Amino acid sequence: MDRRYFFHAWTVFRAVRNLPASAVAVGWARHHGATILIGNDLFVECSGMPRGTYGRGGTTVGNVWLYGDLGGPDRRRHELRHADQYALLGTLPFLALYGLNALVTRNLPHRNVFERWAGLTEGGYTTPAIEEPHAAIEEDQGGPGR
Ligand SMILES: [Zn+2]
Repeated sequence: MDRRYFFHAWTVFRAVRNLPASAVAVGWARHHGATILIGNDLFVECSGMPRGTYGRGGTTVGNVWLYGDLGGPDRRRHELRHADQYALLGTLPFLALYGLNALVTRNLPHRNVFERWAGLTEGGYTTPAIEEPHAAIEEDQGGPGR
């Protein structure tokens, strides 16, 4: 099968499967005066949202990315993977599993399986050096008082 057809089919499937959640999110974005842009991958960017109307640096609900001014192609790719996760698992199972994961990982993005899958660096998350065994060793060699 031609890969283009697969990706086109996936794009349409994702948009249809996420439509109920996306409709709610676009309504929320319109209510808060966002600038709304629909890509040819049917992913919807809602920028210029006021602080407190979305989580962290931005939030994806269905096929809709809600954010203030932290945009850009890297973050878009990260958020689009969250849209894939919504479509693969279904809105309610995804939200339940994401919430459970956040609970178990004390809401640390670098430990959350869905954030890791979406790409931590592209999402603007940095992995704390203390999690790296080599970094911990280097820190030990530094001795006290550093
Ligand atoms: Zn994310």
